[in-house]
Amino acid sequence: MISIRDISKSYGSLKVLHGISLDINRGEVLSIVGPSGAGKTTLLQIVGTLERPDSGSVVFDSEDVVRMKESRLAAFRCRSIGFVFQFHQLLPEFTMQENVAIPAMIAGMSHYKAMERAGELIKYLGLYDRRTHKPSALSGGECQRAAVARALVNSPAVVLADEPSGSLDSRNRDELHRLFFQLRRDMGQTFVIVTHDEHLASTCDRIVHMSDGRIQNIEQRINTTTV
Ligand code: ATP
Repeated sequence: MISIRDISKSYGSLKVLHGISLDINRGEVLSIVGPSGAGKTTLLQIVGTLERPDSGSVVFDSEDVVRMKESRLAAFRCRSIGFVFQFHQLLPEFTMQENVAIPAMIAGMSHYKAMERAGELIKYLGLYDRRTHKPSALSGGECQRAAVARALVNSPAVVLADEPSGSLDSRNRDELHRLFFQLRRDMGQTFVIVTHDEHLASTCDRIVHMSDGRIQNIEQRINTTTV
């Protein structure tokens, strides 16, 4: 579904990625692990079209996003890619439901439809009774699950998550991890997760081990996680 070919990237004289190639399959939960500075976030940002590589291609189905014009890129990103970051980045002045609805409105959905879609997702995530609360009145775990709902609101091809459970305690962390697999089971959602969490990585379908800007190996797991 996503075909990454020979991606290289430097920041000034620092070469961060050296010819990365990787295929991401529809409906898989893939983790990227490795030491600090290995280039994991840079790779995720390139797949997410937030950064451009110096060379190589990233093809979503048949579309190479590296060569996509800037004028089309924002709409493509909004429609096709969901992001979950370490800190939820919900907007403090809006309710949970409004926060989840915002990317749908940016993508062109009416306010009514976007709020309806957001409400459905929030209900699915078991947060419906919290939907009118602003982030300051929500727990860290609730905010992060709302951030997952926001990432899903446009039914993206892939959700890219960068240390999604890095700011959570162990109970919320486990709940978030279960949620990823539940979403894959129920919606066929594809996830690419950069993580230092060995437990999360070990439950993924494949683990991509990176160091020094290269993929060192790809570990195929037999995934028995269903909930
Ligand atoms: P961590 O696990 O610590 O988040 P990482 O594997 O995700 O690390 P990256 O964030 O991709 O690594 O960074 C790889 C290298 O590129 C690091 O040396 C970092 O300092 C450098 N780097 C990342 N972004 C930039 C930037 N915008 N400008 C300059 N250097 C950068």
